[in-house]
Formats: sequence, C-alpha cells, structure tokens
Amino acid sequence: MIVVVGSYNVDFLIKVRDFPSEGETVFSDGVYIDHGGKGSNQAVSASRLGGNVRLISAVGNDEFGKRAIKFWEDERLDVAYVKIKNALTGSAYIVFDRRGRNFIVVNRGANALLSEDDLDGCLNGDILLTQLEVNENVVKKALKEFPGVKVLNPAPAVLNDNSLLEYVDILTPNEIEFKELTGTQDLNYGIDLLLKKVKRAVIVTLGERGAYIGTRERRILIPTLAVDAIDTTGAGDVFNASLAVYLEKGYSLERAVRISNIISAYSTTRIGALGPRLSEVSELIEKE
Ligand code: ATP
Repeated sequence: MIVVVGSYNVDFLIKVRDFPSEGETVFSDGVYIDHGGKGSNQAVSASRLGGNVRLISAVGNDEFGKRAIKFWEDERLDVAYVKIKNALTGSAYIVFDRRGRNFIVVNRGANALLSEDDLDGCLNGDILLTQLEVNENVVKKALKEFPGVKVLNPAPAVLNDNSLLEYVDILTPNEIEFKELTGTQDLNYGIDLLLKKVKRAVIVTLGERGAYIGTRERRILIPTLAVDAIDTTGAGDVFNASLAVYLEKGYSLERAVRISNIISAYSTTRIGALGPRLSEVSELIEKE
C-alpha cells in the first residue's frame, strides 16, 4: 500500500492574450477547470500505474469537495481517510498568457486545516509519499510515524524546520527546490549537505537531463528519454508517483528511477498534469 499525504486544489486555468496591467480589466480567451494539488496528482498518477493507493487529504464541504472525492473513487483510490472540513476546497487560479507565462494565486482552503489528528489510524503501509503543500507539522508527523519507506517531494521548497529531513528516506527535489534547500547548484556538494540528515538517498530531477541519484556510497546520473515535450506541467508529480509504485514493487532505487524517468518523459508528450495508465507505457518500460 502507498499512502499519500497531501493537497488537493481545484485548478482554474485562465487563458489571456496579454496580462492586464494594474487596474485594467481584460477578457479571457477561455477558462478550464481541472483537478490539481500535488497530493492528488501524485496519488492518482500512482494508482493509474497500478499502485494500491490511500490518499490522506482535506477538501471543503462544497461542490468541489464532492467532485474531488468522486474523481478519486473513479481513479480507484482509497478515500476512507479523506477529511471534509468546514471550509472551501483549496483552489488555484492560474492565469497564463499566449507566451505561456503565468501567474498563480492559491487559496489553501481546506488544505490548511488538515491536522496531525487527521493522521491517526491511517499511517500504515509500505511507502509514504508526501509533499510540502499541507502544514509542515502534519508532514513531520507522517514522516515520523510511518513504518515503511518515506519519500518527501519537497515542493514547494519552503521548510521552516529542517529537522523534518531526519525522518526522510528518499528526498526528491527538482533543480529549483534543490537550490532553495541547499543554497547551491553544485549537485554533489548539495547532496553531501542533505545527506547529513536524509537517511538513504537524494534524487534530483533534472527535466530533460533525467535524474541524479546521490547516496552515501555513490552518485549517478540516469538519463531520460529524448521526447518532443509539449506539456511538462506535472512531470515531477508523475516521476514521484512512479517512484513510489516501483519501490513498492521492491525494485532497486536505480531501476525505479530508470522507469520513472521513462514514464515522466512520456507524460510530457501529453497535455495535463496526470500520468499515463500502465497499459500506455508497458511496452516502453518492458526492457527496464
Ligand atoms: P513540474 O514542476 O513541471 O511538475 P519538475 O520541475 O518537478 O516538474 P522535472 O525535473 O522538470 O520536474 O521533471 C521530472 C522528470 O520528468 C525528469 O526527471 C525527467 O525524467 C522527466 N522530464 C521532464 N521534462 C522532460 C523533457 N523535456 N524531456 C524528457 N523528460 C522530461
């Protein structure tokens, strides 16, 4: 069982030709509503790859909350521990222009109300996958008390209490998060710093260059597939989801990263943040 502790947001994607200037009103070229939040994205992507996934997340007592739960049920997640809060469901307002630049405003809503008590009774399983979009004390308790392998995707890389890293087995920053956490772009030096706390490995995802694995014994760059990427949004979420799935299957870290590179590269050739189903990628990963 993979347990995901994390966020859910309704994403409102608002397309404009040009951003308005201060005080100006512009018409949009379209509004799209989608499911988002790193917790939900990673949980759903892991389930699509065949993982047995429990999601621990909070939604509001509104229509968006109901819609989220229905979506997760359709995606075969265990939603028994999803909490319904007396608040609005989290929402993200993503305004993007014709050049693909964006502004994002997030209302944390119910995500901010997920509490340590909400974790009672549900922290059992093989792999914990969590991020930093819910309260840090909740993430810390999950990492501290979960009995299996603990993966932290430190996104966004805002960490007030570094001692939380002591409970992490595998840390998976992207390049930006890595720099924020370590203050350096030097992979080996930064990994040395993180491994003073992180128990087993740091995996830095490097976009089209693949992923770099650092442990106390060795450092290795695992290249990814060369693809014609059309939408890299959520590639990191797909990578983390896949990593959890293949670690749960008992694959070595290196093999799990090889496969996760392929699956997340494939996901950049499709629109949307969620990953592919296993049937779409089974041929690609067959030889790994
Ligand atoms: P995002 O924030 O967009 O979700 P991220 O910045 O967290 O993504 P990345 O490091 O960009 O994560 O990507 C995660 C993985 O996805 C990479 O390690 C790589 O395997 C794959 N990937 C991402 N972009 C590309 C690309 N252009 N071509 C091939 N593979 C890619």
